[in-house]
Amino acid sequence: MKIGFIGLGNMGAPMAANLAKAHDVTGFDTAAKPAGLTLAESAAAAAKNADVVITMLPNGDILRAVASDIHPVMKPGAVHLDCSTVDVESARAVAMAAQNAGLSAVDAPVSGGIGGATNGTLTFMAGGPDKAFATVQPLFDIMGQKAVHCGDAGNGQAAKICNNMILGVTMIATCEAFVLADKLGLDRQAMFDVVSTSSGYSWTMNAYCPAPGVGPTSPADNDYTPGFAAELMLKDLNLSQMAAEAADADTPMGKAATALYAQFVEDEDGMGKDFSAMLPRFESRRRA
Ligand code: NAD
Repeated sequence: MKIGFIGLGNMGAPMAANLAKAHDVTGFDTAAKPAGLTLAESAAAAAKNADVVITMLPNGDILRAVASDIHPVMKPGAVHLDCSTVDVESARAVAMAAQNAGLSAVDAPVSGGIGGATNGTLTFMAGGPDKAFATVQPLFDIMGQKAVHCGDAGNGQAAKICNNMILGVTMIATCEAFVLADKLGLDRQAMFDVVSTSSGYSWTMNAYCPAPGVGPTSPADNDYTPGFAAELMLKDLNLSQMAAEAADADTPMGKAATALYAQFVEDEDGMGKDFSAMLPRFESRRRA
């Protein structure tokens, strides 16, 4: 397959490198120039003649701008596969623009981070027509371990932000419970042993425990080096609140988590730390 790959940052570069082992890939990025990949002079040049154009970009505004550059030059019937995490509205607008240009679009944000991108073990949550999903399925198989077709355009983004809203809320709940346990004189290992096998269990406790030295190895055991950075969690929580606003959904826990991560990243020392560093944050505080 002939593939154009636009956005060769932390995630895009290793995803493109994995695809290039099996397909003809031409990449473009306004700043990054990763070695070992065929590069084009512009997004349009990378997209022209491609069967599938993949974008992996920072946000919805940039995605919309790139889409308006590439759609007019893309081959009729080609697929625009966007793997960025963006707002649902931008994903749906780009899908509509693709359709109007005689193309099809799939929004397929990922979970799995830079490790997953490098090892080809990402999970994709996809929205778009069945036929376009089938066209890009072999590419999901190379870049990832699982792809779930969640329905029409925008539903991939919807699934991603709902998942990450649960993740952000759960991480905060897990961290504050650890700090309460500390203050009540409960040993962290005992806390883990009980909760991880009781009704309070969760992915944040069982697989990504925010307490150093407890549970499986996690960023907490590496001085909270990400992993999944607090500012990326904040980005996804903000997207969840934009979507909740637009859809008139009441999400008080999501709203509270967004405010807490905003404070942590913007006013405290959370920037650049793993999102589980909420635990030392709570540890250093007293009841407000
Ligand atoms: P990044 O900032 O490392 O990469 C984005 C790249 O896009 C940069 O290299 C930048 O130069 C390029 N770019 C910006 N504007 C461009 C344009 N107009 N044309 C071409 N290239 C342009 O970010 P990342 O970590 O690779 O993340 C990419 C997307 O994946 C984001 O939407 C992010 O939310 C999502 N994501 C990231 C992670 C992660 O762990 N890093 C995990 C899941 C999802």
